[in-house]
Amino acid sequence: MIDNHALHAACLAINARVLVVFIATPKQWHEHDMAPCQEEFIYASLQQLKRELAQKGIPLYYHECDNFADSVDWIIHYCIRQEVAVLFYNRQYELNERRRDEQVEQRLSGCVRCQHFDDSLLLPPGSVNTSSGKTYKVYTPFRNAFIRRLTISNVSCYPAPKQRGNSLLMCDSSEAYESITRNLPADFPIGEQAALQRLRIFCRGKAQDYLILRDLPAITGTSSLSPYLAIGTLSPRQCFNYLRAEHPGVLKECDSGPFSWLNELIWREFYRNLIIAYPMLCKRQPFIAWTNKICWRNNAYLFQAWKEGKTGYPIVDSAMRQLNSTAWMHNRLRMITANFLVKDLLIDWRAGERYFMSKLLDGDFASNNGGWQWAASTGTDAVPYFRMFNPINQGKKFDPYGIFTRKWLPELANVPNHAIHQPHDWAKKHNLVLDYPLPIVDHQESRRQTIAVFKAAKSAGSEENKKEH
Ligand SMILES: Cc1cc2nc3c(=O)[nH]c(=O)nc-3n(C[C@H](O)[C@H](O)[C@H](O)COP(=O)(O)OP(=O)(O)OC[C@H]3O[C@@H](n4cnc5c(N)ncnc54)[C@H](O)[C@@H]3O)c2cc1C
Repeated sequence: MIDNHALHAACLAINARVLVVFIATPKQWHEHDMAPCQEEFIYASLQQLKRELAQKGIPLYYHECDNFADSVDWIIHYCIRQEVAVLFYNRQYELNERRRDEQVEQRLSGCVRCQHFDDSLLLPPGSVNTSSGKTYKVYTPFRNAFIRRLTISNVSCYPAPKQRGNSLLMCDSSEAYESITRNLPADFPIGEQAALQRLRIFCRGKAQDYLILRDLPAITGTSSLSPYLAIGTLSPRQCFNYLRAEHPGVLKECDSGPFSWLNELIWREFYRNLIIAYPMLCKRQPFIAWTNKICWRNNAYLFQAWKEGKTGYPIVDSAMRQLNSTAWMHNRLRMITANFLVKDLLIDWRAGERYFMSKLLDGDFASNNGGWQWAASTGTDAVPYFRMFNPINQGKKFDPYGIFTRKWLPELANVPNHAIHQPHDWAKKHNLVLDYPLPIVDHQESRRQTIAVFKAAKSAGSEENKKEH
């Protein structure tokens, strides 16, 4: 309710009734792999929002449609039925969503004025471009230009709407919608106040040490705000303004914890700018065309082992079990598990992207796609294809005492710290047998094969290019 651009603009501009409308398209969400817990998170958050808005005298109307085409028809009829003067809405940037909004604007033109807002970003998309007006493809120059722009932009937050008449009775404004809270993870309490409280605590405390702690999954060193940012409970402007209030020098202190946290928020902006400029990213296409030539192994047994956290690589397995149990995964581990699926198992990154989406409470198309394409070396400014994380070394580096690993792999409880990432070597030395899988692939062998497969795809791609020109 606070810092919602469309709501704020509507309340400011309209003296008469303001109606808030939320159109859900669960069927379409399922087709796009939305995790059941994220769907419930949205419903539960909506119910809370509805109560808060009702206290302000603003009704929230909820409607369900099968797909975007139906939602277009429905909103047009609704606007006409309710004699709506202006339709204020916050933009979404995925391709289908943009097409939907264009259709609504076209069909309403001449009868209802439409005003859209870039609510889910710090700066409107396209406002930070190269000197020739193009979208940045490389992150660091984008980030530098973004910071320069941020320094001179007004990114203050809008307050919650003022009281508009009497509080409403809860049951009179919406169709009934159920809130099932079966799948909601306990770590993420519902609602704006809970999110703001978490943001406040983080900015006051952990942000200072973020640079040191952010890569250690055994420690809660990151903000855990992603689920709130993903569904719009919290805005990135709120994040930035709270951070700047606690750390006024944040924009200049490039090697500080607060700056490096802001840097992550800017990655989020970068990926959103990319999906707008390159719509093919929304059609399951890689950014780098030759990677379409990769001969994936796509072995179903290996994929299943990865999903279940049974690869025999403790850091990968503990991460996947964290995801399956909590609907969230630490960023470092997302990088390791994605890299492992694509490079060690040679499984198409799109299978991993979909699996993450189907499990994550913070599932967000642009960030998920960006993260997967980065790890798979198919994206812009991605990790080079010949760079592969060694899952044993990654484990040793980021969970050196095995605290995180043991939490999710109780079968390794008795393995000492120094051996936790190669438990079978230790067990063999001590004539023990562990109830834990042996590594499903040999990392060095996978490395050799993967580099060869990527190399072949690259040269096939450049042959094809030559022929075309
Ligand atoms: C393969 C892969 C898949 C990912 N899928 C998603 C996803 O579906 N949804 C999602 O929100 N993030 C995704 N990320 C990015 C990142 O892992 C999460 O945003 C982060 O782990 C969330 O934890 P946090 O809120 O504690 O982050 P913090 O470290 O506290 O960062 C603050 C905020 O910045 C944003 N952010 C942080 N890192 C990134 C990043 N690398 N890219 C884009 N935004 C970032 C998030 O909104 C996050 O809440 C993915 C990363 C990878 C490598």
